[in-house]
Amino acid sequence: MAGNKTLTMIKPDAVRDGHIGAILNQITEAGFRISAMKLTQLSTADAEAFYAVHKERPFFGGLVEFMTSGPIVAAVLEKDNAVEDFRMLIGATNPAEADEGTIRARFAKSIGENAVHGSDSNENAQVEGDFHFAGREKF
Ligand code: GDP
Repeated sequence: MAGNKTLTMIKPDAVRDGHIGAILNQITEAGFRISAMKLTQLSTADAEAFYAVHKERPFFGGLVEFMTSGPIVAAVLEKDNAVEDFRMLIGATNPAEADEGTIRARFAKSIGENAVHGSDSNENAQVEGDFHFAGREKF
């Protein structure tokens, strides 16, 4: 099913602000099936590993601090063309540049605290799904 899956996280800002239900509703209304989901909190080591590709970037420390600041919702989503379609649904990394109606335009505060994560490739969707979920947690 590679190509039909993506991994999302509802980030600590959106969880704190009470947007879990609205965001999941927008995701399922857009035709994604939730095949795994949990409320969890990343440790510093978890966040550093998940975002290792960004470790040389100036925002890395702030990103790790933010992503460990409270619970997140992690979920695997399935749909044809999942990675690309989900990135369309969430909008640009910077919510100021996100198209109207996208999840980040509706719920994100800033480029750092931007409400949701979406995998950027089929390969990363697989890696990130395996990062968050054991086989028996995927349906
Ligand atoms: P995404 O794929 O749209 O999430 O964006 P990236 O993979 O480029 O970056 C990962 C995450 O790092 C983003 O979702 C933001 O939370 C954060 N980030 C990216 N660029 C910046 C930046 O310029 N400043 C800050 N503060 N955070 C950033």
